[in-house]
Amino acid sequence: MIDVKSLTVIEAGKLLKAKEVSSVELTRAYLDRIDAVDPKIQALMTLTDELALAQAKEADARIAGGDVEALTGVPIVFKDVLCTKGIRTTCSSKMLENFIPPYDAAVVERLRSRGVVIVGKANMDEFAMGSSTENSAYFTTRNPWDISRVPGGSSGGSAAAVAAGLAPAALGSDTGGSIRQPAAFCSVVGLKPTYGLVSRFGLIAFASSLDQIGPFTRDVADNALVLNAIAGYDPRDSTSVPQPETDYYGCLGGSVKGMKIGVPKEYFAQGVTLQVKAAVDTALRVYEDLGCEIEECSLPTTDAALAVYYIIAPSEASANLARYDGVKYGYSFKDTDSMWQAMEKTRAIGFGPEVKRRIMLGTYALSAGYYDAWYVKAQKVRTVIRREFDAAFERYDALVTPTAPTVPFKIGEKAADPFSMYLSDICTIPVNIAGLPGISIQGGFAEGLPIGLQIIGKPFAEKTILKLGHAFQQVTEWHKRLPNI
Ligand code: GLN
Repeated sequence: MIDVKSLTVIEAGKLLKAKEVSSVELTRAYLDRIDAVDPKIQALMTLTDELALAQAKEADARIAGGDVEALTGVPIVFKDVLCTKGIRTTCSSKMLENFIPPYDAAVVERLRSRGVVIVGKANMDEFAMGSSTENSAYFTTRNPWDISRVPGGSSGGSAAAVAAGLAPAALGSDTGGSIRQPAAFCSVVGLKPTYGLVSRFGLIAFASSLDQIGPFTRDVADNALVLNAIAGYDPRDSTSVPQPETDYYGCLGGSVKGMKIGVPKEYFAQGVTLQVKAAVDTALRVYEDLGCEIEECSLPTTDAALAVYYIIAPSEASANLARYDGVKYGYSFKDTDSMWQAMEKTRAIGFGPEVKRRIMLGTYALSAGYYDAWYVKAQKVRTVIRREFDAAFERYDALVTPTAPTVPFKIGEKAADPFSMYLSDICTIPVNIAGLPGISIQGGFAEGLPIGLQIIGKPFAEKTILKLGHAFQQVTEWHKRLPNI
C-alpha cells in the first residue's frame, strides 16, 4: 500500500505516468488516510469519496490511452468557497448549508479538464472572514502540528489537509492573507497570485477588489505546477488580465545570484515575536549564501494597511452579501407572511456573528455622510501603499518578510477579541491592498511549531517569487518535516 502522507504532486504524477500505481489505488490510499486522520483535525467540510473514485477511474482510462497531463489522476481538495457543480458548497455558512451550485468555478473547471480527482471540500471561516477557521458555522479545524492550536484561516481546512497528507494539493482564496497565513501555520507552501492572474468566476465573493485564488502544496515546485493549470485569462471575470502564457514550473531552477531582496523594517514591528524574527533572519542568511543582495528598506505606510483593509473589505462584503436575501438561493426563513420579516430573519439566522460584524462595519463606512470620511479616504491611502511598493520594486526583485507575526495560536485564544485576531494578518494584508503576488514557504520552527517566510513580488512576477522559494528549498529541509498525526 502506498504511503501518501509525504507524497508530492510531482511524485504522484510520476508514479501514475509510469503506471506503478493507478489513480484508483492512489485515491483509495488518500481516502483511507482521510478516514484515519480527518476525525482528529476536521479539515474537510464534505467528503466526495464516491465522486473521487469515479473520477479516478476516468483518469486511469485517460492514462491508459496515453492522455496524461501533469495533474491527471491526482487527488485535490477545494476550499468550500469555490463552486463545484453538483457538490454542496457551503462557504462554511448556515446561509449556504444546502447550496448545490449548478456550475463549476473556472479553476475547478480547469482542473477537472486536466483529470484531477476531487476528494473533498475544505472547511474555512464563514464567507472567508477570519484567521483561524473558528468562524466556521460548523466546526473548527485543528492544526496537524498541535491539535490544540488553530490551522490559521480563512483557508485553514485546505492548509491542514495538505499538511496532514489528505491530498497533495488544495486550492484556497486569499483576501487579506487567507492562503499565506494558514500555509505558514501548517508548514506548507501557499501562493496568492497577482490580482487578475487567476479567474475568480465561481468564487463566492467576499471583497472583490482583494480576492484571489491560489494553490497549497508541500513544496514550491508543486505549487508552480498547479499554478500552470489555474492561471490564465477568462472573459467571465471582468478583472481577469490577459497575460502571455507562462510555464511557472519550467522557470524553476537556475541561480538566484545577484537578485536583490528588500527587507521592509515595518514588517518586524507590531507584535512580531522574537522567534519569528530569528527564523526570518536565518532564512535571509540562506539567501545571502545563495548570492542574493539583502538590504533593509522602508514602506512607511504599512502601519495604515490594517485600517484601510477593515474599511475596504467590509464595505465590499456588505455589498456582496446583500444577495443572500432568502429569495434567490440559500437559506430562507419562510414562517411569516411579511416579506421584510422573512428577509430580516433569513439574514439573522443565516449569518454568523463575524459576518454580521463585517456587514455592519461596511454598511456604516458606505453610508451617506460617512462615505468620504471612511471609504474614500481608505481608497486614497490604498494608492499611497501601492505607490510605496512600486518604488521599492524599482530597487528590488522581491521583498522578504514574516508571513505571520507569531506561531499558530491556541484555539479560543483570540476568538473573543476581534482586533487581536485581525492583527494576525498584519504582514499579508498590504500585499492584497496593492494587488501583488505573495508566497509563504516553510521558514523554520520554534518549539515544534511552524514559521512561514513571505516573499512578495512585482505584479505578475510569480516567476521570480517561485524561483526564489524553490532555490531556498534546494538548500533547506524545513518543507520535508511532517507533523506527527
Ligand atoms: N483574516 C482576514 C479577514 O478576516 C483575511 C481573510 C481572507 O483573506 N479571506 O478578513
